[in-house]
Amino acid sequence: MVQVPNLKLNSGAEMPQVGFGLWKVGNDIAPDVVYNAIKAGYRLFDGACDYGNEVECGQGVARAIKEGIVKREELFIVSKLWNSFHDKERVEPIVKKQLADWGVDYFDLYLIHFPVATEYVDPSVRYPPGWQYEGDEIRPSKATIQETWTAMEGLVEKGLAKSIGISNFQAQLIYDMLRYAKIKPATLQIEHHPYLVQNELLRLAKNEGITVTAYSSFGPASFEEFNMEHANKVKPLLSHDVIAEIAKKHGKTNAQVLLRWATQRGLAVIPKSTKVEYMQSNLESIAFDLSDDDIKKISALDINTRFNQPSNYFPTEALWIFG
Ligand code: NAD
Repeated sequence: MVQVPNLKLNSGAEMPQVGFGLWKVGNDIAPDVVYNAIKAGYRLFDGACDYGNEVECGQGVARAIKEGIVKREELFIVSKLWNSFHDKERVEPIVKKQLADWGVDYFDLYLIHFPVATEYVDPSVRYPPGWQYEGDEIRPSKATIQETWTAMEGLVEKGLAKSIGISNFQAQLIYDMLRYAKIKPATLQIEHHPYLVQNELLRLAKNEGITVTAYSSFGPASFEEFNMEHANKVKPLLSHDVIAEIAKKHGKTNAQVLLRWATQRGLAVIPKSTKVEYMQSNLESIAFDLSDDDIKKISALDINTRFNQPSNYFPTEALWIFG
Protein backbone atom coordinates (compact mmCIF):
# COMPACT_ATOMS: atom_id res chain seq x y z
CA MET A 1 0.00 0.00 0.00
CA VAL A 2 1.30 3.45 -0.90
CA GLN A 3 2.71 5.50 2.01
CA VAL A 4 1.02 8.89 2.15
CA PRO A 5 3.20 11.53 3.84
CA ASN A 6 1.78 13.76 6.57
CA LEU A 7 1.88 17.54 6.67
CA LYS A 8 2.58 19.04 10.09
CA LEU A 9 -0.07 21.61 10.98
CA ASN A 10 0.55 24.68 13.16
CA SER A 11 -1.66 22.99 15.79
CA GLY A 12 0.95 20.22 16.10
CA ALA A 13 -1.34 17.66 14.38
CA GLU A 14 -0.17 15.59 11.42
CA MET A 15 -2.48 15.61 8.40
CA PRO A 16 -2.25 13.13 5.48
CA GLN A 17 -1.30 14.95 2.28
CA VAL A 18 -3.73 12.92 0.18
CA GLY A 19 -7.27 12.48 1.44
CA PHE A 20 -10.71 11.64 0.13
CA GLY A 21 -13.45 14.18 -0.73
CA LEU A 22 -17.07 13.43 0.16
CA TRP A 23 -19.02 16.09 -1.74
CA LYS A 24 -21.77 14.56 -3.91
CA VAL A 25 -21.15 11.02 -2.65
CA GLY A 26 -24.73 9.67 -2.65
CA ASN A 27 -26.28 8.55 0.65
CA ASP A 28 -26.99 5.10 -0.76
CA ILE A 29 -23.35 4.41 -1.62
CA ALA A 30 -21.50 6.52 0.99
CA PRO A 31 -21.00 3.69 3.56
CA ASP A 32 -19.37 1.45 0.94
CA VAL A 33 -17.40 4.27 -0.66
CA VAL A 34 -15.85 5.28 2.67
CA TYR A 35 -15.22 1.66 3.66
CA ASN A 36 -13.56 0.93 0.28
CA ALA A 37 -11.50 4.10 0.49
CA ILE A 38 -10.20 3.07 3.92
CA LYS A 39 -9.35 -0.34 2.48
CA ALA A 40 -7.54 1.37 -0.40
CA GLY A 41 -5.40 3.24 2.15
CA TYR A 42 -7.14 6.62 2.62
CA ARG A 43 -7.01 7.96 6.16
CA LEU A 44 -8.29 11.52 5.67
CA PHE A 45 -11.98 12.08 4.89
CA ASP A 46 -13.23 15.53 3.98
CA GLY A 47 -16.87 15.86 4.98
CA ALA A 48 -19.32 18.65 5.70
CA CYS A 49 -22.81 19.24 7.05
CA ASP A 50 -23.71 20.56 3.60
CA TYR A 51 -22.85 17.26 1.88
CA GLY A 52 -25.82 15.66 3.65
CA ASN A 53 -24.08 12.29 4.02
CA GLU A 54 -22.29 12.41 7.38
CA VAL A 55 -24.41 9.64 8.91
CA GLU A 56 -23.64 7.27 6.02
CA CYS A 57 -19.94 8.21 5.91
CA GLY A 58 -19.78 7.44 9.63
CA GLN A 59 -21.29 4.00 8.91
CA GLY A 60 -18.40 3.26 6.54
CA VAL A 61 -15.91 4.32 9.21
CA ALA A 62 -17.66 2.22 11.87
CA ARG A 63 -17.53 -0.89 9.65
CA ALA A 64 -13.82 -0.45 8.95
CA ILE A 65 -13.08 0.04 12.66
CA LYS A 66 -15.25 -2.95 13.62
CA GLU A 67 -13.41 -5.16 11.14
CA GLY A 68 -10.07 -4.04 12.57
CA ILE A 69 -8.89 -2.42 9.31
CA VAL A 70 -8.19 0.86 11.03
CA LYS A 71 -8.38 2.50 14.45
CA ARG A 72 -10.14 5.83 15.04
CA GLU A 73 -6.84 7.48 15.95
CA GLU A 74 -5.36 6.47 12.60
CA LEU A 75 -8.10 8.38 10.76
CA PHE A 76 -8.19 12.12 10.12
CA ILE A 77 -11.83 13.19 9.93
CA VAL A 78 -12.58 16.66 8.64
CA SER A 79 -15.93 18.38 8.77
CA LYS A 80 -17.24 21.90 8.24
CA LEU A 81 -19.49 24.47 9.88
CA TRP A 82 -22.35 25.44 7.59
CA ASN A 83 -23.26 29.10 6.99
CA SER A 84 -26.49 28.98 8.98
CA PHE A 85 -24.66 27.97 12.18
CA HIS A 86 -22.27 30.95 12.41
CA ASP A 87 -24.03 32.65 15.37
CA LYS A 88 -21.87 31.91 18.42
CA GLU A 89 -24.53 29.96 20.33
CA ARG A 90 -25.15 27.67 17.31
CA VAL A 91 -21.59 26.43 16.82
CA GLU A 92 -21.15 23.92 19.64
CA PRO A 93 -24.62 22.29 19.35
CA ILE A 94 -24.21 21.70 15.62
CA VAL A 95 -20.72 20.26 16.02
CA LYS A 96 -22.10 17.86 18.60
CA LYS A 97 -24.82 16.82 16.16
CA GLN A 98 -22.27 16.32 13.37
CA LEU A 99 -20.02 14.26 15.66
CA ALA A 100 -23.01 12.10 16.60
CA ASP A 101 -23.82 11.68 12.89
CA TRP A 102 -20.28 10.48 12.21
CA GLY A 103 -20.31 8.34 15.37
CA VAL A 104 -17.07 9.85 16.67
CA ASP A 105 -16.30 12.07 19.64
CA TYR A 106 -13.91 14.56 18.04
CA PHE A 107 -13.07 15.93 14.61
CA ASP A 108 -9.42 16.05 13.64
CA LEU A 109 -10.13 19.26 11.78
CA TYR A 110 -13.23 21.47 11.67
CA LEU A 111 -13.48 24.29 9.13
CA ILE A 112 -15.66 27.33 8.57
CA HIS A 113 -17.06 26.23 5.18
CA PHE A 114 -17.64 29.72 3.73
CA PRO A 115 -17.06 33.22 5.14
CA VAL A 116 -20.80 33.78 4.75
CA ALA A 117 -23.24 33.84 7.68
CA THR A 118 -26.90 33.09 6.96
CA GLU A 119 -29.89 32.98 9.27
CA TYR A 120 -30.28 29.92 11.48
CA VAL A 121 -32.48 27.09 10.26
CA ASP A 122 -33.31 24.53 12.93
CA PRO A 123 -32.11 21.01 11.97
CA SER A 124 -35.61 19.71 12.77
CA VAL A 125 -36.97 22.00 10.02
CA ARG A 126 -34.40 21.15 7.34
CA TYR A 127 -31.01 19.45 7.41
CA PRO A 128 -28.70 20.13 5.75
CA PRO A 129 -30.19 23.60 5.44
CA GLY A 130 -28.54 24.71 2.17
CA TRP A 131 -28.21 28.36 1.24
CA GLN A 132 -31.83 29.46 1.33
CA TYR A 133 -33.75 30.35 4.47
CA GLU A 134 -37.09 29.59 2.90
CA GLY A 135 -38.12 29.23 -0.72
CA ASP A 136 -35.64 31.27 -2.75
CA GLU A 137 -34.85 33.70 0.01
CA ILE A 138 -31.27 33.89 1.29
CA ARG A 139 -31.12 35.76 4.59
CA PRO A 140 -27.82 36.85 6.12
CA SER A 141 -27.23 36.59 9.86
CA LYS A 142 -25.40 39.32 11.76
CA ALA A 143 -22.58 37.05 12.99
CA THR A 144 -19.12 38.37 12.14
CA ILE A 145 -16.24 36.05 11.33
CA GLN A 146 -14.68 37.13 14.65
CA GLU A 147 -17.74 35.92 16.57
CA THR A 148 -17.71 32.60 14.71
CA TRP A 149 -13.97 32.09 15.02
CA THR A 150 -14.07 32.70 18.77
CA ALA A 151 -16.75 30.00 19.04
CA MET A 152 -14.58 27.70 16.88
CA GLU A 153 -11.71 28.24 19.33
CA GLY A 154 -14.06 27.03 22.07
CA LEU A 155 -14.33 23.69 20.24
CA VAL A 156 -10.60 23.11 20.60
CA GLU A 157 -10.72 24.02 24.31
CA LYS A 158 -13.53 21.47 24.77
CA GLY A 159 -11.76 18.73 22.79
CA LEU A 160 -14.48 18.58 20.12
CA ALA A 161 -11.99 19.50 17.38
CA LYS A 162 -8.24 18.91 17.49
CA SER A 163 -7.56 21.60 14.88
CA ILE A 164 -9.68 24.33 13.32
CA GLY A 165 -9.43 26.08 9.99
CA ILE A 166 -11.15 28.00 7.23
CA SER A 167 -12.33 27.44 3.70
CA ASN A 168 -13.03 29.78 0.79
CA PHE A 169 -11.39 32.73 2.57
CA GLN A 170 -9.37 35.28 0.62
CA ALA A 171 -6.34 37.30 1.79
CA GLN A 172 -8.11 40.33 3.29
CA LEU A 173 -10.25 38.23 5.63
CA ILE A 174 -7.29 36.10 6.66
CA TYR A 175 -5.21 39.16 7.58
CA ASP A 176 -8.15 40.49 9.57
CA MET A 177 -8.60 37.18 11.42
CA LEU A 178 -4.96 36.98 12.32
CA ARG A 179 -5.38 40.18 14.40
CA TYR A 180 -7.77 38.59 16.86
CA ALA A 181 -7.31 34.81 16.52
CA LYS A 182 -6.01 33.20 19.71
CA ILE A 183 -5.72 29.99 17.67
CA LYS A 184 -4.43 30.53 14.14
CA PRO A 185 -6.31 28.64 11.43
CA ALA A 186 -4.42 25.36 10.93
CA THR A 187 -5.55 24.97 7.33
CA LEU A 188 -7.10 26.93 4.50
CA GLN A 189 -9.14 24.86 2.06
CA ILE A 190 -9.53 26.45 -1.37
CA GLU A 191 -10.40 25.66 -4.94
CA HIS A 192 -7.06 25.08 -6.65
CA HIS A 193 -6.19 23.66 -10.07
CA PRO A 194 -4.14 24.78 -13.08
CA TYR A 195 -6.89 27.24 -14.09
CA LEU A 196 -6.77 28.85 -10.60
CA VAL A 197 -3.17 28.81 -9.41
CA GLN A 198 -3.41 31.55 -6.71
CA ASN A 199 0.29 32.18 -6.10
CA GLU A 200 -0.29 35.18 -3.81
CA LEU A 201 -2.77 33.41 -1.53
CA LEU A 202 -0.45 30.40 -1.25
CA ARG A 203 2.45 32.71 -0.37
CA LEU A 204 0.38 34.39 2.35
CA ALA A 205 -0.59 31.02 3.82
CA LYS A 206 3.01 29.82 3.78
CA ASN A 207 4.28 32.98 5.46
CA GLU A 208 1.62 32.62 8.17
CA GLY A 209 2.22 28.89 8.74
CA ILE A 210 -1.23 27.89 7.43
CA THR A 211 -1.37 24.61 5.48
CA VAL A 212 -3.40 24.74 2.27
CA THR A 213 -5.72 21.98 1.07
CA ALA A 214 -6.72 22.04 -2.59
CA TYR A 215 -10.23 21.11 -3.58
CA SER A 216 -11.60 20.41 -7.08
CA SER A 217 -8.09 19.54 -8.26
CA PHE A 218 -9.51 18.40 -11.61
CA GLY A 219 -10.98 21.85 -12.27
CA PRO A 220 -14.22 21.80 -14.27
CA ALA A 221 -14.70 17.99 -13.94
CA SER A 222 -16.67 18.34 -10.73
CA PHE A 223 -18.90 21.13 -12.07
CA GLU A 224 -20.00 19.66 -15.42
CA GLU A 225 -23.24 18.42 -13.89
CA PHE A 226 -24.24 22.00 -12.93
CA ASN A 227 -24.13 22.96 -16.60
CA MET A 228 -22.27 26.20 -15.83
CA GLU A 229 -21.39 28.14 -18.91
CA HIS A 230 -17.76 28.90 -18.02
CA ALA A 231 -17.08 25.33 -16.82
CA ASN A 232 -18.29 24.01 -20.16
CA LYS A 233 -16.31 26.59 -22.16
CA VAL A 234 -12.81 25.67 -20.95
CA LYS A 235 -10.90 22.57 -22.03
CA PRO A 236 -11.37 19.78 -19.49
CA LEU A 237 -8.14 19.35 -17.51
CA LEU A 238 -8.55 15.57 -17.37
CA SER A 239 -8.00 15.43 -21.16
CA HIS A 240 -5.91 18.59 -21.64
CA ASP A 241 -3.05 18.15 -24.14
CA VAL A 242 -0.41 19.84 -21.91
CA ILE A 243 -1.32 17.57 -18.98
CA ALA A 244 -1.60 14.52 -21.27
CA GLU A 245 1.89 15.06 -22.70
CA ILE A 246 3.44 15.26 -19.21
CA ALA A 247 1.40 12.24 -18.07
CA LYS A 248 2.59 10.21 -21.04
CA LYS A 249 6.22 11.07 -20.33
CA HIS A 250 5.90 9.77 -16.75
CA GLY A 251 3.62 6.81 -17.58
CA LYS A 252 0.91 8.28 -15.32
CA THR A 253 -2.70 9.39 -15.79
CA ASN A 254 -3.75 13.02 -16.25
CA ALA A 255 -5.50 12.85 -12.87
CA GLN A 256 -2.27 11.75 -11.19
CA VAL A 257 -0.35 14.62 -12.82
CA LEU A 258 -2.94 17.16 -11.65
CA LEU A 259 -2.78 15.85 -8.08
CA ARG A 260 1.02 15.63 -8.01
CA TRP A 261 1.33 19.18 -9.34
CA ALA A 262 -0.64 20.33 -6.27
CA THR A 263 1.19 18.15 -3.74
CA GLN A 264 4.59 19.21 -5.11
CA ARG A 265 3.45 22.80 -4.53
CA GLY A 266 3.16 21.75 -0.85
CA LEU A 267 -0.63 21.43 -0.73
CA ALA A 268 -2.81 18.61 0.52
CA VAL A 269 -5.36 17.18 -1.96
CA ILE A 270 -8.77 15.55 -1.41
CA PRO A 271 -9.91 14.03 -4.73
CA LYS A 272 -13.27 12.36 -4.81
CA SER A 273 -14.11 9.24 -6.74
CA THR A 274 -16.62 6.52 -6.19
CA LYS A 275 -14.70 4.15 -8.51
CA VAL A 276 -12.23 1.90 -6.71
CA GLU A 277 -9.68 2.07 -9.58
CA TYR A 278 -9.67 5.90 -9.47
CA MET A 279 -9.49 5.87 -5.66
CA GLN A 280 -6.38 3.74 -5.89
CA SER A 281 -4.65 5.67 -8.66
CA ASN A 282 -5.44 9.04 -7.05
CA LEU A 283 -3.78 7.87 -3.84
CA GLU A 284 -0.77 6.59 -5.80
CA SER A 285 -0.28 10.04 -7.35
CA ILE A 286 2.00 10.84 -4.42
CA ALA A 287 4.54 8.20 -5.50
CA PHE A 288 6.28 9.91 -8.46
CA ASP A 289 7.85 13.30 -9.14
CA LEU A 290 7.23 15.93 -11.77
CA SER A 291 10.20 18.01 -12.91
CA ASP A 292 10.40 21.76 -12.20
CA ASP A 293 9.80 22.29 -15.91
CA ASP A 294 6.62 20.16 -15.81
CA ILE A 295 5.37 22.18 -12.83
CA LYS A 296 6.05 25.48 -14.63
CA LYS A 297 4.22 24.29 -17.77
CA ILE A 298 1.17 23.26 -15.74
CA SER A 299 1.15 26.49 -13.71
CA ALA A 300 1.25 28.45 -17.00
CA LEU A 301 -2.29 27.21 -17.76
CA ASP A 302 -3.59 29.67 -15.14
CA ILE A 303 -6.59 31.72 -16.28
CA ASN A 304 -7.64 32.76 -12.77
CA THR A 305 -11.00 31.02 -13.19
CA ARG A 306 -13.07 29.77 -10.26
CA PHE A 307 -15.83 27.21 -10.76
CA ASN A 308 -17.15 26.92 -7.20
CA GLN A 309 -19.06 30.20 -7.20
CA PRO A 310 -21.98 29.55 -4.84
CA SER A 311 -24.29 31.95 -6.68
CA ASN A 312 -24.10 29.55 -9.62
CA TYR A 313 -26.22 27.07 -7.66
CA PHE A 314 -28.87 29.57 -6.63
CA PRO A 315 -32.10 29.77 -8.54
CA THR A 316 -31.76 32.85 -10.75
CA GLU A 317 -34.49 34.63 -8.82
CA ALA A 318 -32.84 33.96 -5.40
CA LEU A 319 -32.85 37.04 -3.20
CA TRP A 320 -30.55 38.26 -0.48
CA ILE A 321 -32.75 39.95 2.13
CA PHE A 322 -30.72 42.37 4.25
CA GLY A 323 -32.37 42.77 7.64
P1 NAD B 1 -12.64 16.55 -7.82
O1 NAD B 1 -11.77 17.60 -8.42
O2 NAD B 1 -12.09 15.60 -6.86
O3 NAD B 1 -13.32 15.81 -9.07
C1 NAD B 1 -14.28 14.85 -8.94
C2 NAD B 1 -14.65 14.36 -10.33
O4 NAD B 1 -13.51 13.79 -10.97
C3 NAD B 1 -15.68 13.26 -10.25
O5 NAD B 1 -16.53 13.43 -11.37
C4 NAD B 1 -14.87 11.99 -10.37
O6 NAD B 1 -15.58 10.93 -10.94
C5 NAD B 1 -13.75 12.42 -11.29
N1 NAD B 1 -12.51 11.67 -11.03
C6 NAD B 1 -11.96 11.41 -9.82
N2 NAD B 1 -10.80 10.71 -9.95
C7 NAD B 1 -10.62 10.54 -11.29
C8 NAD B 1 -9.62 9.90 -12.05
N3 NAD B 1 -8.56 9.34 -11.47
N4 NAD B 1 -9.75 9.91 -13.40
C9 NAD B 1 -10.80 10.50 -14.00
N5 NAD B 1 -11.79 11.13 -13.32
C10 NAD B 1 -11.70 11.15 -11.97
O7 NAD B 1 -13.91 17.29 -7.26
P2 NAD B 1 -14.59 17.79 -5.98
O8 NAD B 1 -15.45 16.72 -5.41
O9 NAD B 1 -15.18 19.09 -6.37
O10 NAD B 1 -13.42 18.14 -4.95
C11 NAD B 1 -12.88 17.20 -4.08
C12 NAD B 1 -13.38 17.39 -2.66
O11 NAD B 1 -13.06 18.71 -2.20
C13 NAD B 1 -14.91 17.32 -2.47
O12 NAD B 1 -15.40 16.02 -2.54
C14 NAD B 1 -15.05 17.99 -1.12
O13 NAD B 1 -14.69 17.10 -0.08
C15 NAD B 1 -14.03 19.12 -1.24
N6 NAD B 1 -14.66 20.40 -1.69
C16 NAD B 1 -14.72 21.42 -0.80
C17 NAD B 1 -15.32 22.61 -1.17
C18 NAD B 1 -15.37 23.75 -0.20
O14 NAD B 1 -16.13 24.70 -0.42
N7 NAD B 1 -14.60 23.71 0.86
C19 NAD B 1 -15.86 22.78 -2.45
C20 NAD B 1 -15.77 21.70 -3.36
C21 NAD B 1 -15.15 20.53 -2.97
